[in-house]
Amino acid sequence: MPLQITFVTSAKRYTDLPATPCEVAFVGRSNVGKSSLINALANQRQLARVSNTPGRTQLINLFVMPKGGTLVDLPGYGYAKVPARERATWQAMIEGYLLEREGLELVFVLVDGEIGPTKLDIQMLDWLRASDVPHTIVATKIDKVKSAKRATRKRDLAKGCELHIDDIMWVSASKGTGIEQLQQHIENLLRP
Ligand code: GDP
Repeated sequence: MPLQITFVTSAKRYTDLPATPCEVAFVGRSNVGKSSLINALANQRQLARVSNTPGRTQLINLFVMPKGGTLVDLPGYGYAKVPARERATWQAMIEGYLLEREGLELVFVLVDGEIGPTKLDIQMLDWLRASDVPHTIVATKIDKVKSAKRATRKRDLAKGCELHIDDIMWVSASKGTGIEQLQQHIENLLRP
């Protein structure tokens, strides 16, 4: 069953977001497949924007779920063409959100399943661990890995993230793999 996700608002600062009883957030490198994944969870094509020009959206997008919890789409990181000053602003904003946001239950950290964790992904994971922010890794685009290579890729990706294979959720937005499990997980987290 697709989640009834409704777009509510975009904000430049997390302090401008409406209050929520419970929330999950999505974070990841630009182009990791975050918009596609949110669209797949909602079974809507245009809910979150999918684009081939990463780094355009520097806003926090907030969506509401049918039972009252919220889902937040954080701006993607690591877009090379973004100037250093803008990157620093991004970092302060995201870190502020992750540390201060009331009701934040879990952060889904998206890692590209085909290319594995990048240096920036590892930095993000280290920071989340050091800051005690609850998080789960979602490996995206697994359809891009040939099935014969999938087991090895999964093992390598998990190792790169210093986790066990079973601690990672594996999805493909284009093929629908793992989408139901992720929907269920989110529903359970946001249960009032
Ligand atoms: P975002 O920048 O993280 O929001 O990433 P997008 O959702 O815009 O996706 C970036 C690119 O990856 C687009 O060209 C998508 O079509 C492609 N993509 C996203 N998810 C998948 C997937 O599950 N499988 C494949 N093969 N491509 C994907």
